[in-house]
Amino acid sequence: MLTRRNFLRLCLKSVASLGLSQVLVPGLAEALRSRGERPPVLFMELMTCAGNLMSWLNSLDPRIGELLLETVDLRYQNTIMAGEGELALRALEETAEKERGNFHLLVEGTVPLKANGLYGAIGHRANGEPLTMLEVVKFLGNRARSVVAVGTCASFGGPYAANPNPSGSVPLDAVLDRQIIKVPGCPIHPDWLTVTLSHLLLFGIPDLDREGRPRIIYGDTIHDNCPRRQHFENSVFARYPGEGGCLYRIGCKGPVTFTDCPTRQWSGSHNNWPVEANTPCIGCVTPGFRDRMAPFFEHLPDVDLPAVAPRARGIGLFVGTAAAAGIGTHLAGSILSGRLRRNWVEGTEARHVHLPDKEGKVEPGPHTPPPRVHPPMEKEQRAGDPGHLPEGRDHPPGGQGAPP
Ligand code: SF4
Ligand code: SF4
Repeated sequence: MLTRRNFLRLCLKSVASLGLSQVLVPGLAEALRSRGERPPVLFMELMTCAGNLMSWLNSLDPRIGELLLETVDLRYQNTIMAGEGELALRALEETAEKERGNFHLLVEGTVPLKANGLYGAIGHRANGEPLTMLEVVKFLGNRARSVVAVGTCASFGGPYAANPNPSGSVPLDAVLDRQIIKVPGCPIHPDWLTVTLSHLLLFGIPDLDREGRPRIIYGDTIHDNCPRRQHFENSVFARYPGEGGCLYRIGCKGPVTFTDCPTRQWSGSHNNWPVEANTPCIGCVTPGFRDRMAPFFEHLPDVDLPAVAPRARGIGLFVGTAAAAGIGTHLAGSILSGRLRRNWVEGTEARHVHLPDKEGKVEPGPHTPPPRVHPPMEKEQRAGDPGHLPEGRDHPPGGQGAPP
């Protein structure tokens, strides 16, 4: 029998050895079968590029078909379902009413508020009026057993709510007064949603951090587990993307980014991730992404001696989470212990990095690197890397999707 303890252990262990499908799908399917249920799920796409759905659909382990066909009863997904129109909206409405308090709601994307929500609609009422995302998400959100925000836009606003935010987009928790499980990522790693959903179906709501993210995935920072951490400690810093060493100086947001990319890794069979591919983490799972994480190739505010405390407070304002204290303390400790050279800290006042063009030429700038394009990492550096829809609608003639 798959206990919660085993589940959590195997979800982590699977990264290194077993595949998730060997662990999760049989245990999940068996557990749900023994309870005689295939929980109904509605998956709404709101204001989004659908990148999180695409990432999830590309899950190789388990294959998305295994998960959707053997474990849950997906009743609505407005991007991939074959049908459309009234049939689709009726399925949505009937599930919301007949399975009230029983269905799970997954939502990708932001909710546009401008013009009373008219910037985003999923269909039309019989009288031709648009059925807005704002109306639908409130209708479904108040009836669902659980609500999962899929991706950074639904969780925190993300790129769709970034300045200047022409649609007045907001994350889910700005319009729903209830608990929301947040699975941020831009896009999400397929495992992040699979593990969260599996925990939800088997054992209920997972332990969440103060931002509403499952701790099993978002418990540690990228920096905590980064194979280049030793370079950070030893002040071996890359001057431009593609160079070996720690990428902090050219914008890595790993110190304030809570997720498991270094250990889980990406690309189907878990074989790589951005830092190992020589490009900085841009902090895509962090509240405020992308405005607070941009420019992507500029580093976080520095700490300096003797003004460590004020600088650390600056970082606090920048990220607005407990991560700030963590990196502030860590950097201060590194400086005090002499691991982070003072001359490096002083040398980071000018923050712009100028990248080589296709010919390898570099515009002069304060941190102009030598004209190298994608140099191979040095061997020694490599070795260290480790009911009813909202009132007013009666039998709408149009809409997206039909039951899959
Ligand atoms: S590359 Fe980024 S995550 Fe890794 S040690 Fe450097 S700052 Fe930390
Ligand atoms: S490495 Fe950073 S930017 Fe890339 S997916 Fe992981 S958290 Fe997001």
